Amino acid sequence: MSNKRIIIDMSIVFLLVSIGLQCKDLFIKDDNYTVSYEYVNIKDMSKANVTTKENSKIVVDNFLSGNNNLGSVEETTLNNQEQLEEVELPVQNESVATVVNKPIWYLPVEMGRISQAPRYGHNAYDITSPRGTGETIHPVANGIISGIYTDSAGALIVTVLHDINGVKYTSQYVHLSSYREGIYVGMPVTINDALGQMGTTGNSTGVHLHVTVLDCALFDPNDPNCSDLGAWYNYSNIRLSQEFIGLGSVIYVPYEWYSR
Ligand SMILES: [Zn+2]
Repeated sequence: MSNKRIIIDMSIVFLLVSIGLQCKDLFIKDDNYTVSYEYVNIKDMSKANVTTKENSKIVVDNFLSGNNNLGSVEETTLNNQEQLEEVELPVQNESVATVVNKPIWYLPVEMGRISQAPRYGHNAYDITSPRGTGETIHPVANGIISGIYTDSAGALIVTVLHDINGVKYTSQYVHLSSYREGIYVGMPVTINDALGQMGTTGNSTGVHLHVTVLDCALFDPNDPNCSDLGAWYNYSNIRLSQEFIGLGSVIYVPYEWYSR
């Protein structure tokens, strides 16, 4: 190996270490935050054990039963259907997702590039960003946080429950580097709220977002398709075989974009 080659290799190592240190700095752990689900494997969710903040169970139940009175943990007003209809898609450039069907869904990140589209066994879009862990993850629609947990590989995951024209959907955001401070199960969120930062926690080879949308209510015991994450995983493969590809079923997901 030539000296020049060694210098280049050393530079690469230095660069990678620098990036590693930056990522560490960006991982802001919130000591006040309690993870709402037991340490679970996304493919074997029999161990999923829900422990939510006080009253959040009531809030989730109210939401599921269509009761807009969300109770005392409500921090922001959950947009009802009329308000959802009024949401305007920000038309800033042609790469913005084009709505082809109601409901209106937004892209989960401001800057993104599809690195992997849904396929069998992976019913999700993988999205990278030039901003890496600096990219903030947003809900694809207004809703309520229904799950905050890690899988057995250590991936930080948030799920959001949506009720759109009477149909329950769940969006799932995986590999976050950090959760947004103060989030909790039962928290109403809008498309403008943050859920966390893009990351590479868990079974992942680089910083990206793995985002799935399924037409069921994850963790709802009354929804046999999605009562737990094992059911969710099975249902996602069934729906994929039926050509339901999550986000791509309801919006046109561009290959690359610079604005939500
Ligand atoms: Zn993925």
